[in-house]
Amino acid sequence: MYIDLHCDTLWKFMEDKGQRNLLHNSFSVDIERLRKGNSLLQLFACFVPSAQIEDGYEYGMKMIAIMEDQEKLWKNQFSIVTSMEEVWKNHGLDKQNGMLTVEDGGMLCGRLERLDDLYKKRIRLMTLLWNDENCIGYPNSTDPGIMNKGLKPFGFEVVQRMNELGMIVDVSHLSDGGFWDVIKHSKEPVLASHSNSRNLCNHPRNLTDEMVKALANHGGIIGVNFYHRFIDDALEEGLLDRLTEHIVHMRNQGGIDLIALGTDFDGITGPLEIPDCGQMELLWMALRRKGFSEADIEKIQYKNAARFLNEVLK
Ligand SMILES: [Zn+2]
Repeated sequence: MYIDLHCDTLWKFMEDKGQRNLLHNSFSVDIERLRKGNSLLQLFACFVPSAQIEDGYEYGMKMIAIMEDQEKLWKNQFSIVTSMEEVWKNHGLDKQNGMLTVEDGGMLCGRLERLDDLYKKRIRLMTLLWNDENCIGYPNSTDPGIMNKGLKPFGFEVVQRMNELGMIVDVSHLSDGGFWDVIKHSKEPVLASHSNSRNLCNHPRNLTDEMVKALANHGGIIGVNFYHRFIDDALEEGLLDRLTEHIVHMRNQGGIDLIALGTDFDGITGPLEIPDCGQMELLWMALRRKGFSEADIEKIQYKNAARFLNEVLK
């Protein structure tokens, strides 16, 4: 059983209408393979790269509508949930769970009331940035002039309102300056939904040891990312083993209670040995080879994420 904090399958649905089928498709995530992989909860991102889309808000609303349609179509097998209570209830009924998120808070276009509307539409997590500057702040970057920039004034308002609503603040993609602003100002624990260790793979999308420790100290979690460029840019083989080294390293920095999963399925392509959500067993086997106990593997699979979601969602 596992919880995955990030996939981009909805983005695939926008690109390829013919394959818009959550029960069965040729992408990396569908209900059939979630069942096969024994998923407890899959988070689905409404990925709106706001700097590249004229009206990101409309685009995001279309994505939500697609998921609502899919939920109706497969209502006996799948539900969109907003709490862990619903997750466990559906699990008992042998149904698959999905939770809606927004990737790139730029779709707010500086309008705080849109956050409340997204909440009503059952969005329960927002990744503040993607890879472009938006109304909230600045993205991860190799340019220190950008990387050190903090949140914009509107960004602070967004974090505060998300805390009030019980919407999860996601710092993946954010500039380092923005990360520290969120850590300092968020009243609730925050997470990095799909990021790895910068110590092991020097990419600005990854987290420094200080960030890993800060997340741990604030009750946060980190979803490890399956993208090969965030695991090891030089490797063509053995990426799964290398991914477990990221897990070992971040555990050593922040403790086992910090580690969760954020596969990034359908947002990535590459040579990692796990091509889709039906084959997560390969990761559990790799963790056993690395010496992780069954109790620790369960924490990584779902217990840490479940604890976090239970705490932050209202
Ligand atoms: Zn992303």
